[in-house]
Amino acid sequence: MASLGAIALWFVLRVPTPPRPYLPFPPGKQCVLSITDDTDYFQFATTKPVYDLLNRFGARVTKTVWVFDDPKSTPEKEGLSLTNRTYKDWVLEQKRYGHEITLHSAASGDDPRDRTLAAYDSLEAMLGELPRLEIFHKANKEAFYWGAERLPSGVLRRLYEARMSGRFEGNKPESEYYWVDRARSLIRYVRTYTFNDIDTWAVNPSMPYEDPSTPEAPLWFASSNGRWGQDFVRLATPANLDRLKEAHGVSIIYVHLATGFDTPEAMSAMARCAGDADVEFVPAGELLDRLRLIQRVRTQLDQGADRIRVPVALRSEFALVSVQPQELGTVRGVDGKTLPSRLSLQDWLERVDVEVEWTNDSIFAEPEVISRWEKWRLVAKWLWTQVATPT
Ligand SMILES: [Zn+2]
Repeated sequence: MASLGAIALWFVLRVPTPPRPYLPFPPGKQCVLSITDDTDYFQFATTKPVYDLLNRFGARVTKTVWVFDDPKSTPEKEGLSLTNRTYKDWVLEQKRYGHEITLHSAASGDDPRDRTLAAYDSLEAMLGELPRLEIFHKANKEAFYWGAERLPSGVLRRLYEARMSGRFEGNKPESEYYWVDRARSLIRYVRTYTFNDIDTWAVNPSMPYEDPSTPEAPLWFASSNGRWGQDFVRLATPANLDRLKEAHGVSIIYVHLATGFDTPEAMSAMARCAGDADVEFVPAGELLDRLRLIQRVRTQLDQGADRIRVPVALRSEFALVSVQPQELGTVRGVDGKTLPSRLSLQDWLERVDVEVEWTNDSIFAEPEVISRWEKWRLVAKWLWTQVATPT
């Protein structure tokens, strides 16, 4: 019985490398890596050295921030928020280095709707634009479709609720924490499941995806676990990086740069990733836009279109997507086998005589919808990670 269970688990958790004719990085790179930095416990002493290292390499990450202090706690305990003038100036300096600045919930405690919306207003005023994604903080009540609602079966949900009573209310219209109705007007993507595999895209090939069970939510994306310094060191080994390059993989690594990253081991793992010329190192918002662009292009090309419509909001990433024509076979009379192994998407579309029309369509139009099978696999990987590497 146990061995049957083990076989079933192996089958669910194994991830074959899928064919990847379209890649979210330019022809000169072998893989792409994004770091999403959860701002918990931010203090200059522990975190600034890590950003100084990244900036020396020109490596850009996604840095999350809190706009406000939690009225029930202190920044000394939770980490600084933008109410601290010195910190705000430093965050703006990081933006000038090219890091992406996004929200990690409005504050480190539960945020009623008004505070969440005020945080977005304030961040937009500070950055001159809205952020592209959000990473929910731990147990903040305003998270939507969170807690038990992340589980795809009634049995699992009841088990979860028996341990932790329903606390997440961002999608409950009667709650003062409700805000999912505004979410798509504020952000494009939200982080969900985390697991220990480095190739995030292999486990979650539909990302950024729409989930039919989470109406109004923006698109979801998964992440690889580099939570604390030691998790990152374990994930970003030279062997895993080599595997990622070989598979032309995509890694979105979830980290807390304030905790355990100022050690020699973590600093050298970070330097290895940031200094590798084969690795495209970009903020998650840019990477997710490239994946969304690939989804739109691929769907229309598969339908045989000679003119494809793509939301203009994704245009800035167009030149940074590439194609492996040899994996595409013959397209519109052009045999991919006769072409170089990698081309920019732009070049390839010209060769197959396909025109791009930039439209004002929403980036949420015609989404990639996650299958039940893929969601079950994500959940299994995520639960397994909670057991194997608890926080
Ligand atoms: Zn957090």
